[in-house]
Amino acid sequence: MIGNDAEIDRRSVIGAAAMLGAAAALPGGAANAQSPGSGWEWGPMRWVQICATEDDPGRYDKQFWLDFLQRTRTQGVCLSAGGVTAFYPTQVPFHYRSPFLADGDMFGELVHACKAMDIRVLARVDPHAMRADALAAHPEWVARDAAGRPKRHPADPELYLTCPNGAVTFEWMPQVLREIVSRYPVDGVFGNRWAGSAGICHCNVCRTKFQKASGRAIPATLKDVGDPAVRAYLVWDDEMRYEQLDLWARTVTGVNPQAFFTPGTWGRLDPRRLRRTARALFADRQARSGNAPAWLNGRSAKETACLMPDRPVSGIFAVGETATPYRFMDSVQAPTEIRAYLHDGLAHGFRPWMTKFKAEVFDKRWVPAVADSYAWHARHEKYFRNIDNLSRVAMLHSAQTNTYYVPEVPRDNGAGGPQDAQSLRGGSDDATNGFYQALVEARVPFAFVDERLLDPAAIDRYRVIVLPNIAALSDAQCAALRGYVRRGGAIVATHETALCDEWGNRRANFGLADLFGCDYAGRVDQRVANSYLSVRGPHPLTAGLDDTPRIMAGTKQVHVRPHDPRMRAAFTSVPSYPDLPMEKVYTATRRTDVPMVFARTVGKGRVVYFPFDLDRTFWENSTGDHLTVLRNAVAWAANAPEPMTVSGPGLLDVAYWRQQGSVAAHLVNLTNPMAMRGYMREVIPAGPYQISLQLPPGTRPAAVRLLETERDAVYRREGDRLIVEVPQIKLHEVVAVDLA
Ligand SMILES: [Zn+2]
Repeated sequence: MIGNDAEIDRRSVIGAAAMLGAAAALPGGAANAQSPGSGWEWGPMRWVQICATEDDPGRYDKQFWLDFLQRTRTQGVCLSAGGVTAFYPTQVPFHYRSPFLADGDMFGELVHACKAMDIRVLARVDPHAMRADALAAHPEWVARDAAGRPKRHPADPELYLTCPNGAVTFEWMPQVLREIVSRYPVDGVFGNRWAGSAGICHCNVCRTKFQKASGRAIPATLKDVGDPAVRAYLVWDDEMRYEQLDLWARTVTGVNPQAFFTPGTWGRLDPRRLRRTARALFADRQARSGNAPAWLNGRSAKETACLMPDRPVSGIFAVGETATPYRFMDSVQAPTEIRAYLHDGLAHGFRPWMTKFKAEVFDKRWVPAVADSYAWHARHEKYFRNIDNLSRVAMLHSAQTNTYYVPEVPRDNGAGGPQDAQSLRGGSDDATNGFYQALVEARVPFAFVDERLLDPAAIDRYRVIVLPNIAALSDAQCAALRGYVRRGGAIVATHETALCDEWGNRRANFGLADLFGCDYAGRVDQRVANSYLSVRGPHPLTAGLDDTPRIMAGTKQVHVRPHDPRMRAAFTSVPSYPDLPMEKVYTATRRTDVPMVFARTVGKGRVVYFPFDLDRTFWENSTGDHLTVLRNAVAWAANAPEPMTVSGPGLLDVAYWRQQGSVAAHLVNLTNPMAMRGYMREVIPAGPYQISLQLPPGTRPAAVRLLETERDAVYRREGDRLIVEVPQIKLHEVVAVDLA
């Protein structure tokens, strides 16, 4: 069965691969640069990772795991093999065998048992720590601080951190990889903390290599990304990772041509280079903290998929609470939280990968939750073999903005009552979160696009690309977006978008000034209190707000000069005025013509630009008026109904996918007092809903099923759309439409 489905997927992604155009055509650096979709990686839909501790051999219940794998219809496993600790009788010097292994081979036993069950196996390796005997014999292996002292492991004082740029990575680990892949029938290797955990290493190897590459000394910290030495270090570090990925890929694939190495994290690495070796991605964001929104795993799925739209992506989730710094590794989260996190990832295209730390299981309360969801997923697997995301809105994912953009810190003038509550996390992440939340509340299905994959073939499928304070954009990226708009696309941008180049250097003017219809006037107010937007409708952007003269503005404002001085904006500024003392809370400037939005057509496309932090402010104070404005902006820019619309109560996270012979609309019910903070404790059913789906051209529905309730749906046709009644959603309903 796996083989057949994989074959279907392989054929159907050929179109997607062509879509990537130049990206896919980059010269392959590794021996295994196969055509996308040709490998076994398309088979497994459900993964389980059994992450062993040293004392697991001899203690853990092997039969429990084999039964669990069977019951969950798991098709891929990841098993602890080596690195910090070997779980097999290794011959590689200084590859420390678990003292509890005795004469046994825990890894080998599990590999063979899983292969006998027709389950694919990834061997887990982790090279980030080493022991004192290795340090004594190989002092050049360890990571060192600026004074040249070996870095001890922060969590385990018996261990040291390895240098990721020297012999451990480039000589010793390849021996380990070769031994594992040649001795066991594994299908690949998964790298946990594959790039080490040492931070900046000041060892002689690093100093020499960095000096040679950049002509510079290693910086003491990486805090100032405007410092040329810091930039050089970040670029060099990335180059070391590409070199490592290429070597490890050659090592693994050199032994077994069907196998590959895949990293568990990739940070800002360029997907065009990552894809030369990683045939599938397994994203390691294991859970949400109590402060993260309930849609976090869906965001992870979208961010991972945008790097490799034509390859399978899986989302790693932990059954324990590992998202806070305290990492209660042996804990078990509330079953509802586990399921809500898992299902939001499923809805957005993740194949599930459960990870359990420690093979010995103390607390089994997670088992029914995962088993039920996996069994359900297996029953309806064909509706999860997505070949196309049908959303027509995308958000730009910008690693360079996250890395290099540094917003100016607002000055607290001490005038406010409660002290400055503004979050300063990340450069644009709060803007992204705010726009993300608005699109979820507006039930707009959307994807991400990566800043390095802006070819027409990849982005012209979207009607709208959202730029939530994407400050750092190169000239080439601006040109790609300009071309996209002129060909008929639309963008919605906020605040300092395109005000920096790809290195975070401030530009004299927006890189997209011609699209925005205004120039940068040289000033950004970083802390604006008590200011408003005059509602100057009726206008598509003011719909729903025309009964009020003003709504709240943002908290940061970019000063701009309109190209057309006679323009009449849908929102204009009421400048900030005192919020204390009470007697002074009024302004003589009740209205201005200063535009707070630019909404215009350019070529065949549309552009909306807000010269303030509308999305970030929405993330902070959640005012419904800002939701209305964000929703209106995307709707006007799209200039067509969304392919999937939903009416009914509550907070739903939606997605719409195509499979080979079907389409599937996902509705994840996040209506819950714990949606925005804290963990889900109970499912709160909501409904009824009416779902409207645009069917692919030339298709008609042959059958419409509701997969959560597992019954046929009531539906009717309206032109090219299908109207489906969904009486109630518990956690995750899927409207599955077989196409004729
Ligand atoms: Zn080093």
